Amino acid sequence: MLARTHPSQVERRCPICARLYFVRLKYVKRGEGQYCSPSCFHKARNRPEAERFWEKVKETASCWLWTGANKPGRWPYGMLAGPGKTAKLAHRVSWELHHGAIPTGLNVLHKCDNPSCVRPDHLFLGTLADNTADMIAKGRGKGGRPIGTKLSPASLASFRSKRRKRF
Ligand SMILES: [Zn+2]
Ligand SMILES: [Zn+2]
Repeated sequence: MLARTHPSQVERRCPICARLYFVRLKYVKRGEGQYCSPSCFHKARNRPEAERFWEKVKETASCWLWTGANKPGRWPYGMLAGPGKTAKLAHRVSWELHHGAIPTGLNVLHKCDNPSCVRPDHLFLGTLADNTADMIAKGRGKGGRPIGTKLSPASLASFRSKRRKRF
């Protein structure tokens, strides 16, 4: 029988092996300590992608929201952790589950401008240039630039190279 080793520990049941274990509340709040052991953690990560994806989706009347981890930074896209240290963008996983592979060079973009949305009919395929044009048209460019302001070629190039790293 396991015993508490710290007063702030809470009891949890491992979703993989159903064993009871204790974990400190601060880890739970960070989204850590979800499994009793590293081996259960790896078993969870090795489950089929669709299963890992759907357990993190909360459907609302409009957007389907990602409840898992988010990518840090300005556009908090959902992230789906996979086997080993791999992670994929959740909205890209959604596209692949519903429509198949994403053609090389194309990105999955949001019609609804909600980075944490994974609803397939809110997503569309486009190029990075489409996304930049879409962002500028919708006035959500870098630094909240007013609609209709033109980017200089140099700042556009640096903006694109920064965005590229995200995909
Ligand atoms: Zn376990
Ligand atoms: Zn949406």
